[in-house]
Amino acid sequence: MTIKICVLPGDGIGPEIMEQALRVLDAVRGDGFDFVAEKALIGGCAVDATGTPYPEATSRLAKEADAILLGAVGGPQWDSLPREQRPERGLLAIRKELNLFANLRPAILYPELANASTLKPEVVSGLDILIVRELTGDIYFGQPRGIREENGERVGFNTMVYSESEIRRIGKVAFEAARKRGKKLCSVDKMNVLESTQLWRDVMIELSADYPDVELSHMLVDNAAMQLVRAPKQFDVMVTGNMFGDILSDEASMLTGSIGMLPSASLDANNKGLYEPSHGSAPDIAGKGVANPLATILSAAMMLRYTFNLDAQATRIETAVKKVLAAGYRTGDIYEAGTRRVGTKEMGDAVIASL
Ligand code: NAD
Repeated sequence: MTIKICVLPGDGIGPEIMEQALRVLDAVRGDGFDFVAEKALIGGCAVDATGTPYPEATSRLAKEADAILLGAVGGPQWDSLPREQRPERGLLAIRKELNLFANLRPAILYPELANASTLKPEVVSGLDILIVRELTGDIYFGQPRGIREENGERVGFNTMVYSESEIRRIGKVAFEAARKRGKKLCSVDKMNVLESTQLWRDVMIELSADYPDVELSHMLVDNAAMQLVRAPKQFDVMVTGNMFGDILSDEASMLTGSIGMLPSASLDANNKGLYEPSHGSAPDIAGKGVANPLATILSAAMMLRYTFNLDAQATRIETAVKKVLAAGYRTGDIYEAGTRRVGTKEMGDAVIASL
């Protein structure tokens, strides 16, 4: 299988971490798998070169490719631009154009990094959960919305809305993901107060008939927020709507305390996806060769698993990362006394050696 990857390094540390992810992909070539990678501009670098954060040429390449691998976008030099020209607009545009409605964010805490979390090591060590967040619906997009005058004062309003088909398609992604992991799915809603989430729960229950091998449970969002810090290891896969998922996925990623380690995927209905680290462009360390490339390397592994069903190759990369951590290699963000501090390229070298 030769896959075509659209590579969007972006801004800040983006190009540095992307280089290492591509080297790792290169190292797992063979065994029925090959790829071609074509680069394009997105974010601030695209604004500088073309005047827009998501140029036509990038859009064309992204549509043609089988999957997209992205570094990060943004930086202080673009913060004062008009809203439509900001680098982050490029990200919103590509997600919308490709209809990437399913956001998958694993929160994994490797036992070697248990001290990086603000929670007690015994609560989080070995944590491995996946949050599936709906990304293109809910109160963030619902109409009507706005701020109006009413009885002599301003009133702000938004609409929380989900159609059955929107719930069903994200539910399917979550059930399928649970099937590839521990076969436990927890659906998070607020059905005691919100009708749209009552429908959410009803549809999840209907859908569960197609997945008898996956154990479905339900939790109200307030309890889910509490359980994530009380006993996060009870979860395998969690699925929820756009707004609840926005909050819970950040909470879950912070449990691990190491943002430089966390990959993410955003998928469409055919599992075409955009894969990127959960962190930003880290302008404070850009160009210094010290950024942690592991989130981007693990995003490439997710791409192999979720878009191309290349489980063996994905697992090979993930195992190599675990070995490198066990051997004591650390970039600055996860460094602690007694371990070996390395830069971006050395970390890439170590992963490749361990493959
Ligand atoms: P950030 O994630 O870029 O950085 C937060 C902190 O974490 C910084 O101290 C940074 O040095 C560190 N960090 C992040 N990734 C790291 C890595 N791989 N290795 C080592 N350390 C790492 O968040 P921020 O500072 O709030 O945002 C910086 C820029 O990134 C802003 O312009 C923001 O809009 C943008 N941003 C982009 C994305 C994206 O591209 N998906 C996401 C978040 C923020």
